[in-house]
Amino acid sequence: MSNLKMLYKPVQGKTYSLFAEGGDSEPYYAEIKRLADAFLERCPDGKRLLSLIRKAGERSVLWGLQTTRAERQTIRLIKEALRQSLSVYTRNVSSHLRTLPPAKRRDRTLTTKEEKYHLYMLEIELVNRIYKEEFKRAECKFALIAHCLRDFRPGCRSEAGEIEAVCLRCTEDCLVHLGGILLEKYGIQPYISVEMEQEKLFRKLKQEHPSIGALGIACIPELAMGMRLCIRTGIPPVGIPLNANRCARWMAQAHETSFNLEQLEELLT
Ligand code: SF4
Repeated sequence: MSNLKMLYKPVQGKTYSLFAEGGDSEPYYAEIKRLADAFLERCPDGKRLLSLIRKAGERSVLWGLQTTRAERQTIRLIKEALRQSLSVYTRNVSSHLRTLPPAKRRDRTLTTKEEKYHLYMLEIELVNRIYKEEFKRAECKFALIAHCLRDFRPGCRSEAGEIEAVCLRCTEDCLVHLGGILLEKYGIQPYISVEMEQEKLFRKLKQEHPSIGALGIACIPELAMGMRLCIRTGIPPVGIPLNANRCARWMAQAHETSFNLEQLEELLT
């Protein structure tokens, strides 16, 4: 894969970029792993920590009653540590929120606040750690790759497949193609995600294949939401975030983006 450096061109997303100011996204992965290790030392039960992180992002009027004083203190410490370490990756969130047109202010994904991006980043890392082995043991494994990884290619020849669209591998330097080769090496069927009604799709798949695992490659808010949906449906999820969010939903038109193939392989081994 000699052309990988070219595919990983450092770019800024509408709200986040895992490149920060550097040339690749590896420092981000090192940092999120370091943070997860540190928080798991303080709270060794991964599922409990995950539930706490989710509660931290879903503040409600019952927040004070549903959490203990110790939990609230842990959450405060976690949020501050995340802010200090991860703000460098989410510098564009506030300007995006300031300029969001009124018609889009009810969109849950587009209105994600900076603090929530940091919680989602940790959530994705924790979900990968918690569900990785269960995912690998699943008899049927599929991957949903964000359509924006090929969106800007006018000649894309993908076509409808059994679960979602399938890549026909028309060009060598497409990350959907390269990711698909890697996924198949590990027995995972790759698809390009175009279906909006994922809940219906996941329920149907779980009924047809009781032992099934899902892998997602998507922007941070969509990946975290997709992982939650999988867990609710009884499907063990894992996933890799896009290096930056640059699809037409975030920007006026789709722009080139990427994801970290080396981290995908590390997740699968
Ligand atoms: S390699 Fe696959 S996803 Fe990429 S442009 Fe060709 S058909 Fe589309």
